[in-house]
Amino acid sequence: MGNSGLVVMDQTDLELLLNYPLIHKTRETVDEVVYSGYVFDGSLDVEVLVKWGSCVGRYEVEVPGDTPLSKEIDELIATGHFRGVLEVLDRVKLHLESIRRRDCVRNIAGVYQKVLWEYAEFTKFYLNLKSCRLQEDLRKIFLSLTDAGSREHSALISIDLSRCDEAIFALTSYDLPQREAGTTLFEPSENVATLFDRFAAQVEYLQPYFDLMDELDQNCDVLDPEKPQRADPYRRIWLGENVSVQITTDPYNVFLRPDVRFLGPDRLVDPYRATLNDRLGDGEGWTCRDGVFRGLLDLLGLASFPRLRETVTRHDDDDDLLVAEGDCSVCFAPRLNGQLADVVCRNASCEKRYHVECLYEWLVAVNARKVLDGISGRCPNCEKAITCPVPVRF
Ligand SMILES: [Zn+2]
Ligand SMILES: [Zn+2]
Repeated sequence: MGNSGLVVMDQTDLELLLNYPLIHKTRETVDEVVYSGYVFDGSLDVEVLVKWGSCVGRYEVEVPGDTPLSKEIDELIATGHFRGVLEVLDRVKLHLESIRRRDCVRNIAGVYQKVLWEYAEFTKFYLNLKSCRLQEDLRKIFLSLTDAGSREHSALISIDLSRCDEAIFALTSYDLPQREAGTTLFEPSENVATLFDRFAAQVEYLQPYFDLMDELDQNCDVLDPEKPQRADPYRRIWLGENVSVQITTDPYNVFLRPDVRFLGPDRLVDPYRATLNDRLGDGEGWTCRDGVFRGLLDLLGLASFPRLRETVTRHDDDDDLLVAEGDCSVCFAPRLNGQLADVVCRNASCEKRYHVECLYEWLVAVNARKVLDGISGRCPNCEKAITCPVPVRF
């Protein structure tokens, strides 16, 4: 078996491939060897041609299309002594990189001018702006607009003065929901007006979503988020003592059936689940003919959302602990690290609530039995069986 098909590389060719993968030997005769391809200058690939002439006994370098640069580099090479094409390319690359850096520095004054001009033009022509302010160091623009529902939306444009390319403006902060985790809604742009137009278009597109969330916030008792933001696409709504429903909508497809999840002990949740399944099963299913909010009420079998009484009745028996509804029965607070007390004792005559962390620590302290994904023991209140998942931080 021969290996005649195998091309044996010499050391120079190999090093060339490793260091300058875009440079190839394009001609080899007795008189001259020519290498051509691209060298990276820190920002762009620059076309380069290196010629070794055995008659002249030295290297010549050309940068096609740029005569002054070609002359500059060629003079640089002509005065040096090089042991091989790799050293020549190293020198060329170094020179190209220094030119690139010099151009960037020169551009900064131009970038400042561009920012000021862009800002002036933008504020002159965009009358639907609610507010707009350019930070003194020219690195940020704060702006806001008012939408069709009289809601104010603010955004922050960051300006990258160090970028040599044109897309120096980026929308880095805004009160809009994300489309999918990890994706950006807005690509950087070379002008402010373009970014603003995209932002305004997105705000307009999201009007039905903002309308729905406003309607929920005004007509329901929202338990979570504590202070809803425009970007929060869910609301956990109070339905009754110990029972709530979490509605999650897709902001970009508001008219699709929202995700509905009931929270509370089975005894209280089951009737709601049964109603929901009936509605979904009777063929009619989800409809938002009369608006998404109305559709949601129909889906839940409600005429309106029940409202939480203004004052929570507390058990005033002499030495009884005062636990308000929704409070954790270990730490007596409604929230721990922003989380609600979500574990509910399944014993219908107890139904005390606990934070996952509080109950877990309690059960660990009394040596309860660890199970596959949590811990299983007795309810601190009624001593009936209770299980608790492992808190996220453990
Ligand atoms: Zn707690
Ligand atoms: Zn219990």
